[in-house]
Amino acid sequence: MKNTGPLLMCLIALASQNAHTEPPFSGTIFIDPDIITASDPTAFTNMTYAGQGMRTMFDRRVNAFVTLNAYLFNARFDDGLTAEIQVNPEFGSTNAASIEANKYAIVIGRLPTISRSRVQTVWIHQGVQPFGGGNNNLLIHIGQADLYAADGILEETLVHESGHSSLDPLHASAPGWLAAQTTDPEFISTYARDNPTREDIAESYLPWLAVRHRPHRISATLSNTIAVTIPNRLAYFDSQNFAMYPIVQEIAVYTGAGTNAANERTDNAGVHVFPGAQVGSNSVPQIFTVKNRGGNNLTGLALTKTGPHPGDFNLGTLGVTTLSPNVTTTFTVVFSPMASGTRDAIVNIASNDGNENPFRIRVSGFSASPPQLQNVVRLANGSVKFDFTNAPGASFTVLALTNLGLPPPNWNVLGPPTEAPSGQYQFTDLQATNSPQRFYRIRSP
Ligand SMILES: [Zn+2]
Repeated sequence: MKNTGPLLMCLIALASQNAHTEPPFSGTIFIDPDIITASDPTAFTNMTYAGQGMRTMFDRRVNAFVTLNAYLFNARFDDGLTAEIQVNPEFGSTNAASIEANKYAIVIGRLPTISRSRVQTVWIHQGVQPFGGGNNNLLIHIGQADLYAADGILEETLVHESGHSSLDPLHASAPGWLAAQTTDPEFISTYARDNPTREDIAESYLPWLAVRHRPHRISATLSNTIAVTIPNRLAYFDSQNFAMYPIVQEIAVYTGAGTNAANERTDNAGVHVFPGAQVGSNSVPQIFTVKNRGGNNLTGLALTKTGPHPGDFNLGTLGVTTLSPNVTTTFTVVFSPMASGTRDAIVNIASNDGNENPFRIRVSGFSASPPQLQNVVRLANGSVKFDFTNAPGASFTVLALTNLGLPPPNWNVLGPPTEAPSGQYQFTDLQATNSPQRFYRIRSP
């Protein structure tokens, strides 16, 4: 008992010292299973089988590179990235290999763009062996993958491994990173500390992703531990403006009421041309659809108008101001020209999207003044000829009547005028020969 006092003092001193000299974690793939989960969106869209081909792959079961007649699949992601997935022929059939390739392409698609940016190939083997990164590759042993999945850290592990392929080449030796290593209080893990050149980027990146992009999924304690341990590394990653789709919110805008890929719009590209409308009238409403295809809430949605003639387009209201992942809303725009001619504007969709705020839709409509008949003459044969000017390429119909007291349904359709030259319309009414007087209407179209 006599020794209790001094012993306790010693332990406290050690604990106190540990708090300043020991990394808080042994490794970071285990820190929280909810940073990315199986219900998060994936950027993976589809893959095609490319047959079998000889590929050199690393296999941890023999701890060596082996050259195999692998099943090959070309996987595509909707941020434009691709990867060749090479499946060990030990799976025995194209179908069995396809199941594995598809399964892991979906998982890999949950990693942010930056993590997949340099991943060109994926190796898939059987066996319970650690994953690997580097070589512009992700190495997967499916027995180990099942264990990671059971622990909820399959995506987290691949975030780490993809750091070796996609982040190490540019950042592991960067002066800014080396400075952050020097000035931070401690390494985030003993694994990083013991392998500072090889593992520090990969070990620190997932904690950064958690703190910056998934703060509501991790505990305040964990968040604080990361923030106080590697503040300069976090700032280094902050300054890189990494492309984080589909981790973060991501706006997608479609022409029409739906999310058909063919109708997806590109920010500020292309012009949506409205049906023509006369001054003071309204076009048919045009519908646009907004979707959040990212993994965090898309918030602060709001519509504004800019451009040369914003007053000529009337905006409907957005159904919501916040979209959860995969949720859509729509709004309408009506062309209501205040003057004739080509009328242009930009519809801006504000949100918290990282690189498309606002998302811009260029809109345009043509408003012609009502045609004014001119040069009306009765020809020698009794026909009546007239002309008018208007928008080039417009469609018109000429109608006639002898008694103005009759309502529009009784007007006779005579046909379209001819346009020559452009914007100059002419019409000759051959039926006018027997009429002492005729009234004419020009209808569009
Ligand atoms: Zn590693």
